[in-house]
Amino acid sequence: MAILAKGGCRCDVNPVRYEYNATPAEVHYCLCTDCTDTCGGALALIAVVERSAFRITAGEEKVRNYDTKPTCHRRFCKDCGCHMFLYVDAFPDHLLIHVPTLDRDAEVGAEPDRWVFVNSKHPMLTIPEDGLPRHPGWAASGEPVQAE
Ligand SMILES: [Zn+2]
Ligand SMILES: [Zn+2]
Repeated sequence: MAILAKGGCRCDVNPVRYEYNATPAEVHYCLCTDCTDTCGGALALIAVVERSAFRITAGEEKVRNYDTKPTCHRRFCKDCGCHMFLYVDAFPDHLLIHVPTLDRDAEVGAEPDRWVFVNSKHPMLTIPEDGLPRHPGWAASGEPVQAE
């Protein structure tokens, strides 16, 4: 399925912009403390996208890295702090995109299909009864595997 999803950081001037043009391998809710603590949110909504389908189209010089693990490389804008996507060594062919940094009218390309790292859930968050599988840690399915 051909899609083109675009997103970027929150800068008004010279924002970082990125896009991908392939259906994500999966979309999931992540409750791991790396995601929540770096985003300041109680959950992260992640699209797993092939690296070959992804590119930064503007503002690449503003992108900085922070490693929350030696194997987990999180990219953010140096000006506005927006954490847009990350690379995990265990998934050499994919990157993980924080879906809310896509434009609100973007076609993500897939629906969330699971909750992962629910053992790390913030105590103030209640997971909705949405019928999706809840995995204590990473849920191996399809191509991505355990990130630890
Ligand atoms: Zn920015
Ligand atoms: Zn996470």
